Amino acid sequence: MSKIILVRNMHGFIPTYLLTELVARNPELYAFADTIAETAKLYATSPIRTNPHLRFVGAGKGDIEIYDCEASTRRPGKKARFEGEQATGNADVDNAYDFTRWVREYFLNVHGRNSIDGSGMKLISSVNYGRGYNNAYWDGRQMTYGKGDGSIFSSFVIADVCGHEIAHGVTQHMANIEYYGQSGALNEHISDVFGEAIEMYAKAIPTAKADWVIGNGIFMPGINGTGIRNMLNPGTAYNDKKLGKDPQPGHMKDYVKTSGDNGGVHYNSGIPNRAFALFAIDLGGNVWDKATKIWYAALANAGNRPSFASFSHQTIEACKVLGTADDLAKLRSAWDRVGVIPNAKGIDDLTPDVGDRSEEE
Ligand SMILES: [Zn+2]
Repeated sequence: MSKIILVRNMHGFIPTYLLTELVARNPELYAFADTIAETAKLYATSPIRTNPHLRFVGAGKGDIEIYDCEASTRRPGKKARFEGEQATGNADVDNAYDFTRWVREYFLNVHGRNSIDGSGMKLISSVNYGRGYNNAYWDGRQMTYGKGDGSIFSSFVIADVCGHEIAHGVTQHMANIEYYGQSGALNEHISDVFGEAIEMYAKAIPTAKADWVIGNGIFMPGINGTGIRNMLNPGTAYNDKKLGKDPQPGHMKDYVKTSGDNGGVHYNSGIPNRAFALFAIDLGGNVWDKATKIWYAALANAGNRPSFASFSHQTIEACKVLGTADDLAKLRSAWDRVGVIPNAKGIDDLTPDVGDRSEEE
């Protein structure tokens, strides 16, 4: 009898390896060591850590609740703006409200999905968490955003960060994909796909005009970077002495074999990210016309331990239903260009089977 492996992951937007790099490169900036400690605390108290099978389900329309932690670490914090209420004038509160509404409208209008859980779970966010907290965090029940240290990072209330993190909740409800190795990289990839798509949808940006940058606006002026990841050109998002260089590969020949970062989840997501961006660009039009619909359908059939090969196979199956023969050729070409060979039975035989995973059941 095989064991079900569950990984106690940390769903923070800034990967731990980058926070560690920031501490090493900027010992004078205490906010980064604090951010690691605070992120670990959010993880330790996360409802899905205590009970990985826990699902918060609602029976509404995904009503929004925004709270302000006022630089404390007590959550949810002071009530700031609830569903239907007027703007407050506090940029983080109002942006969190608007971006959350974009996420809700995108999933409802494009995928017919009522909130994260599909049955109207409340969309709760706490902004201004801690003092100079450099992360955004999804804990299974709510979003938490820091204001950034104001030296390297600006506020984490950013449209595609919000979309990325809330999409982790959608994935958790739809497929509960294991957060390790290629499965984990696909979990990250799917959050990037929806994070970017939500911003494009809300701003009516056609695929041809997309920047494919995740976390644009996250850096303070003077930092050499456009964001945390670049979906079309992985490895090019930042290169600065305070951060190091974006380490993402964009092709299987550069696959990062590591047991760190939950088996390279934030590294190797660059490979499917590039395949998706290439496919969407070849399709033209809007990313939500077909591309994200195909990915959403593939996610529904992904199972909980997909490999790049098996997930790409699922996208092809979905494309046979939702696309034309021409679309299918474009999709096959996109996977081919990043070196992924679709295979229903393909397994992840590249990621070392050790590391920061824990076994349960
Ligand atoms: Zn993520």
